[in-house]
Amino acid sequence: MIRGPLCNANRRRPAFLALAAVLAIFIAAPHLFADEPYARSRDYDLQHSKIALRFDLDHKKVLGEVTHSLSILRDGSTKIAFDSVGLTIQSVTLNKAAVKFESSADKLIIPLPAAAKAGDKFDVTIRYEGKPAKGMYFILPDKDYPDRPKQIWTQGESEDTRYYLPTYDYPNDRLTTETILTVPASWITVSNGKLMSVSDTGKGLKTWYWKESVPSSTYLITVVAGEFEEVKDTWRGIPVNYYAPKGRGDRLRISYGRTPAMMELFSKKFGVDYAWEKYAQVMVDDFVAGGMENSSATTNTSTSLVHPKLAHEYFTGEDPLISHELGHQWFGDLVTCKDWGDIWLNEGFATFVEALWTEAHYGKDQADYERWNNAREWFESNNLWNKPIVRHDFDDSSEFDGNAYGKGGWVLYMLRHQIGEDAFYRGLKHYLEVNRGKNVVTADLAKAIEESTHDNVDQFFGQWLYGAGAPKFDLSYTYDGEKHQVMLTVKQTQKIEGRVGLFRVPIEVEITTASGPKLYNVTVSKDKQTFSLPAESAPLMVLFDKGGHVLKSAEFHKEKKEWLYQLKNAVDLADRADAVVALGKMKNDEEVVAALGETLRNDKAWGVRATAADTLGQLGGASASKLLLAALDSHDGPWVRNRIVSALGNFTNDADVLARLNSVAKQDDSYRARAAALQALGRLKGPNAFATLDAAVAADSPDGFLRNAALRSLGSLGDDKAVPLLLQWSAVGKPIDSRTAAINSLARLQKDNKDVTKQIAAYLTEPHFPVRMAAIHALGGRGDATAIPALEALLKSDDLSIEMAPMIKGQIARLKKPADGKPSANPGSGDADEESAESSGGEKLTTEQRLENLEHLLQEMSERLKSMEKRLPPPKQ
Ligand SMILES: [Zn+2]
Repeated sequence: MIRGPLCNANRRRPAFLALAAVLAIFIAAPHLFADEPYARSRDYDLQHSKIALRFDLDHKKVLGEVTHSLSILRDGSTKIAFDSVGLTIQSVTLNKAAVKFESSADKLIIPLPAAAKAGDKFDVTIRYEGKPAKGMYFILPDKDYPDRPKQIWTQGESEDTRYYLPTYDYPNDRLTTETILTVPASWITVSNGKLMSVSDTGKGLKTWYWKESVPSSTYLITVVAGEFEEVKDTWRGIPVNYYAPKGRGDRLRISYGRTPAMMELFSKKFGVDYAWEKYAQVMVDDFVAGGMENSSATTNTSTSLVHPKLAHEYFTGEDPLISHELGHQWFGDLVTCKDWGDIWLNEGFATFVEALWTEAHYGKDQADYERWNNAREWFESNNLWNKPIVRHDFDDSSEFDGNAYGKGGWVLYMLRHQIGEDAFYRGLKHYLEVNRGKNVVTADLAKAIEESTHDNVDQFFGQWLYGAGAPKFDLSYTYDGEKHQVMLTVKQTQKIEGRVGLFRVPIEVEITTASGPKLYNVTVSKDKQTFSLPAESAPLMVLFDKGGHVLKSAEFHKEKKEWLYQLKNAVDLADRADAVVALGKMKNDEEVVAALGETLRNDKAWGVRATAADTLGQLGGASASKLLLAALDSHDGPWVRNRIVSALGNFTNDADVLARLNSVAKQDDSYRARAAALQALGRLKGPNAFATLDAAVAADSPDGFLRNAALRSLGSLGDDKAVPLLLQWSAVGKPIDSRTAAINSLARLQKDNKDVTKQIAAYLTEPHFPVRMAAIHALGGRGDATAIPALEALLKSDDLSIEMAPMIKGQIARLKKPADGKPSANPGSGDADEESAESSGGEKLTTEQRLENLEHLLQEMSERLKSMEKRLPPPKQ
């Protein structure tokens, strides 16, 4: 599962991680239903479910009849239990005979008439109805938004199918399905498998019949129905269809058209062809995740339907989301983790698959840049450090964390690098073939690799998957001119405690002298080691882990001239980007500033140019601002241009900068750059900022892109004049995105104005999830305790999604102790700030700015929600 159009490829995972970190700080309420970490012992094998659903739109109810065909696994079984939450069971039959049943808070229990034997088969038919608290969502027009396309969609993972379907709801069972959906005649439906028929059922209704003949787990069942437009494509004769909410069908091809090419690439790389009978991607509004890999029928957020005028401004478009969910069709759907403790076998692989597509389609530099960024983000997320990737102790946190995703993807990359491409893909093919249609644990992957390559990976798995942390290196060297040797001293400085140990890693060291580069392979395994490596003359450059193939942090004690040489001459992106970061620590040095300016102009990789722009912004000073301003004349791609503009947002009291930001805000080829300029103007609080932002709110742009940036920026500007404008744009009937942006900013203005608080509190009871979320967090952020009764009332209402309760409790807690409720921990979030400034990609801010923006960030959760692959991680204690 993943992310949306406001954030481009390399900024998606940061959003997820940053949000998890922020939530961890603010939310103290316990999660209501923690996912079961270990697979259950099974009493029966659910083999097939025939699911017939109708919908009562007026009451947002599902009316269902499901027939489960199952086989008993234990002699002497006396009952069959299904997971079922909040559903009213009307009748149950067992092999067509009516039987009694018992319902508890989370189970439907059907006593058997006599003790059964292993192998006995039963057909259980359950008639039921319910108004699902989660799992199934109704997105419908109302008086304020009468034109909204109607949509019903489900989200099963991790344990939410049971809220709309009584079933066996854990991954360690697999079944085939028939899904029979009766809906208004003008609607389209999407479900798992092949579309067998659409028939007229009278009274303005049609019945869609879907049949999935490849078994998968119940969390991968999907039902989507509503007013959609469809675009048809194919791959090797298999239907590949894309669906958008009515009115947005013209956006499908621009973002989704590369899907068949991805199916081809992955089928070849994995050595196992795409296994399902079709591939559908349906984009829905208000999705609780960014994307969900339901078997043969992925659901993605409609925010991935980027406006055609904006789509070309994102280097990799929506490809990371699309490739991630497609990758799951092999890793997750065809082969499924047995329990949530092994979720990285789904998510780490899907993250790795994103990189696979990036490499093949966008080239090595782009893949290197994303990997380099991912490593930095992971190291900044302190809460991940001491947890192994494979773990079963997530009662108080989410198993869907940055270890399962980012670090998991990194581990697979390292494995490929260390055992080699051929062996790696031979291992994957074997893993998929042996385990297809089965549930797996991490040991199954190790076994498949060893069987197919004869490479023993136990030590590798031990430190990277069952152990925690990563190596932190302290590096230095001397050159012995007589012996012609470089003495490279390597220390591992990570604290050895808990699951974090010393790492044993192969490292490529490259030494460049006047006569050229030489590569040496060493293995680091101790807390301190010195390697003697031949070098004809004093080195010009020593690269430890050339190209950045190991997940690590490194403090390499080098002189400035070496970093400058590396910045200019290193072949691999990671080494040049590391040089940018190292030089960024050298303040007040004109030579450094000039070199970074040259990198900003000339480096061949946009990621390095953009990182140089960030760094010049952090260094500050007159020369840096001149270089950034000059770079704006070069018409670099929007993905660099918006970073340059954001960097300019660090220069206070610089008339040239303000003038240029004003002009970019008003007119530029790049909407992202314009949005970044609006954000920067708010932060700089320049004399004309309010007028510029006010004008930007009034003007139209694709999907209100600039308006929303301006509304958000008004919060940073901190000028109370903006309050009437923000109230106006927060009102019902305005576009939801504009409303959430305005509400976010209201959180920061006129904090003692009770009328503003009251207005925001009025939004708490709206049906629109993003608005509600924004209001909840804005009230917490304002610190006005008069909001407490409204929040408490919301907590008691029955029209509340379960995820929301802990968030409301968290905000009430903030209001009850506003003075010391401020965050003090480092949320690991240069990227969080980056997200809070909608289009300011890659912007790096000072710690002070980070803390200032942190509060703001919380109120932007609604947008973040749309852009996360998974539902929100459960709160931490
Ligand atoms: Zn995923």
